[in-house]
Amino acid sequence: MGPPRSLRSLPPEGARPALGRPGGRPFADVATACRTPAVKSRLPQVGTTIFTVMSALAQQHGAVNLGQGFPDFDCDPTLIDAVDAAMRSGLNQYPPMTGIALLRERIAAKIESLYGHRYDAAGEITVTAGATQAILTAILALVHPGDEVIVLDPCYDSYDPNIVLAGATPVHVPLTPGTFAPDFERLAGAITPRTRGIVINSPHNPSGRVWTPAEMQQLAELLRPTEIVVVSDEVYEHMVYAGDHQSVARHPELAARSVLVSSFGKTYSVTGWKIGYAAAPAALSAEFRKVHQFNVFTVNTPMQHGIAAFMADPSHHLELAAFYRAKRDLFRAGLARTRLRALPCDGTYFQCVDYSAVSDLAEADFCRWLTTEIGVAAIPLSAFYVDGFEQRIARFCFAKKSETLSLALDRLASL
Ligand code: PMP
Ligand code: GLN
Repeated sequence: MGPPRSLRSLPPEGARPALGRPGGRPFADVATACRTPAVKSRLPQVGTTIFTVMSALAQQHGAVNLGQGFPDFDCDPTLIDAVDAAMRSGLNQYPPMTGIALLRERIAAKIESLYGHRYDAAGEITVTAGATQAILTAILALVHPGDEVIVLDPCYDSYDPNIVLAGATPVHVPLTPGTFAPDFERLAGAITPRTRGIVINSPHNPSGRVWTPAEMQQLAELLRPTEIVVVSDEVYEHMVYAGDHQSVARHPELAARSVLVSSFGKTYSVTGWKIGYAAAPAALSAEFRKVHQFNVFTVNTPMQHGIAAFMADPSHHLELAAFYRAKRDLFRAGLARTRLRALPCDGTYFQCVDYSAVSDLAEADFCRWLTTEIGVAAIPLSAFYVDGFEQRIARFCFAKKSETLSLALDRLASL
């Protein structure tokens, strides 16, 4: 047996080199000694995200920030009261690794009531530090070095680096230009024996498109003969304005091979709280939890209690679509009075516009110009494509107070 590993790995006292003299050689001087070792980047292509860049530019120029996706209004005060009550009643220590039981139970009940699939709250639901952590955890848990993972461009910026961190290869398949519908011929062509995963996202950031039941069926059929797992990013599940949200939990065949990811940040207008969840069959959840356990271990306790209490009233998520539909309609009515052409928006809180009647600038340049000269920040769609595909499209976020949207629209009318 011998001593535990951690003790075994320590060299005996006398064998340790004197501090500051590794290998026994004296340092030339302190400056040399304080050298940071050269590191090889795990993500050499990655810089600061476009969302951070545009928010900083908006602030610097006093622009209305319709770039980064977050509400500029506060959440329901009863949610804050519920978190406050949890903190004051002493619920401030580590919760169970997978999340508190009441919250997992309420998540399972919500998914079942909306989509018909019952996840086992004990073995199949894990509370995460937002959707971003859930997606990374799912990929690290289920994908191996040398595997391939398909992502559909344009896509949220964390997917590609997540796949790279897992040692796998991201395979970017474009959605159909113009409609942003999945192109199943190209998808089928991208599948190889090494394909281990696919990341899907409906309602879709940035396009606002919502997958149809037929498309989910086509995906199920395409994956049927494979061992491919699906990471289904459903953070905008409660913001659908046409048809129904097509959760993988509505499609048993897909649910059996999927990690469903959602975000309370989006649903309850608390993006800064960074709390969400992953729901997956027991075998996938077991692997997911192994990584989760050594990544964050647990997610903050009082917010879990506060959200569990708030979830007892389903109107909080059921009424979200009507709330955002009104904002979308107000924003689109305003855009109709500008030279920007609003593209369809059936879900999310993003509205894309074709600006080709206004400018020939490339998307990033246009968005920078719009921010600094017109005073409205937007996100270039090219930022969501691995190859920077240009379409003269910019994305606005309409999760804003009416007065913020009106001010932005006044400025856009001058274009
Ligand atoms: N996926 C998509 C498509 C998103 O737009 C976002 C929001 N920023 C996330 C994941 C991350 O969600 P969270 O803030 O809960 O990490
Ligand atoms: N999801 C948000 C967006 O698309 C931004 C989140 C972030 O800043 N990483 O705008």
